[in-house]
Amino acid sequence: MYVMYKRLQQLRRGIALPAPGVPGSLALRHVDCGSCNGCEHELANAAAPHYDFGRYGLSMVASPRHADVLLITGTVTRRMAGPLLAAYEAMPEPRLVAALGNCALGVDVIANPDELAGPAEDLLPVDIRIPGCPPSPSEIVEALLDAMPLLRRPIRKDEA
Ligand code: SF4
Repeated sequence: MYVMYKRLQQLRRGIALPAPGVPGSLALRHVDCGSCNGCEHELANAAAPHYDFGRYGLSMVASPRHADVLLITGTVTRRMAGPLLAAYEAMPEPRLVAALGNCALGVDVIANPDELAGPAEDLLPVDIRIPGCPPSPSEIVEALLDAMPLLRRPIRKDEA
């Protein structure tokens, strides 16, 4: 039995299957909370054919109810704070929050502070930080793939 288990582990590594309990895909719900659209441009590039993040199991979804990751761009404006929190509340557990770009991380903010509710971290527990102004498509993809083990689910007996 032990030998079979070791062989199964080697096989998983050989064909790059995720470890038991680690998801092989992430569904992303993007919320633009007040960005200049630079981060959106690079996010769109990450999904476009050259980088094609879908081949790694990353996909954009239209509803937070179907999402694993809430992907935030821009510093959160006061008007967007409510919709952002509503999107987070609609997500099923387990869920992750990603702050994409310096604005979402509260770095080098150039807008009027009176209009801002703050960086994403002031409103939600941020699990994934993707710095840059804007971060490159490959940095976005790498950060999201690195976060997959954070979304562990309980292991069923037949997967152990
Ligand atoms: S981090 Fe840079 S590119 Fe992204 S929204 Fe802010 S100013 Fe625009």
